[in-house]
Amino acid sequence: MQSPLIKKLIDAFCCLPGVGPKSAQRMAYHLLERNREGGEQLSESLMAAMNGVQHCSRCRDFTEDKTCQLCLSGSRDKSLLCVVESPVDVFAIEATGGYKGTYFVLMGHLSPLDGIGPEDIGLDHLKSLVELEKPTEIILATNSTVEGEATAHFIAEMFKNSGISLSRLASGVPIGGELEYIDGGTLIQSLSGRRPYQS
Ligand SMILES: [Zn+2]
Repeated sequence: MQSPLIKKLIDAFCCLPGVGPKSAQRMAYHLLERNREGGEQLSESLMAAMNGVQHCSRCRDFTEDKTCQLCLSGSRDKSLLCVVESPVDVFAIEATGGYKGTYFVLMGHLSPLDGIGPEDIGLDHLKSLVELEKPTEIILATNSTVEGEATAHFIAEMFKNSGISLSRLASGVPIGGELEYIDGGTLIQSLSGRRPYQS
């Protein structure tokens, strides 16, 4: 018989991606039986992150401040704007050390079936940012999944007549591939070999 608190904990773990009731139950019992200290740390870190992490006012990446360090940095090239789907993509590109421009993080991709439209991925904000900073090139670095391609296409249409160069990552990113799973060497190659966007 599961007590209400244990049941609540198991239900809470089920909110994690890829975690079903069985794994959630294993996690909950593991913490209760063998790692109370780890459980407390987990709960403190969760609370701190949920309360303290917000979106950068410029690029929408995660930050604990109003504007993230990367956007505040004076050494980034604002003529180059790289649009990615998620903060892990920024992390992957930054890890290569080969990109000096700035980013815009969509926090997802267009998905009409799930009711995710242009405003949900911040495209109104992207438009204002581009008008303000006037980059000369926008790199459409969304994933090469169906949704990622559709999102890149939509953004390309938005800036079609703006005079801004639009580019897409070069081959190396496999079709259906997500940036975060690509090794750094391949990623930097596909960034430096990026080609004009063709719809
Ligand atoms: Zn930022």
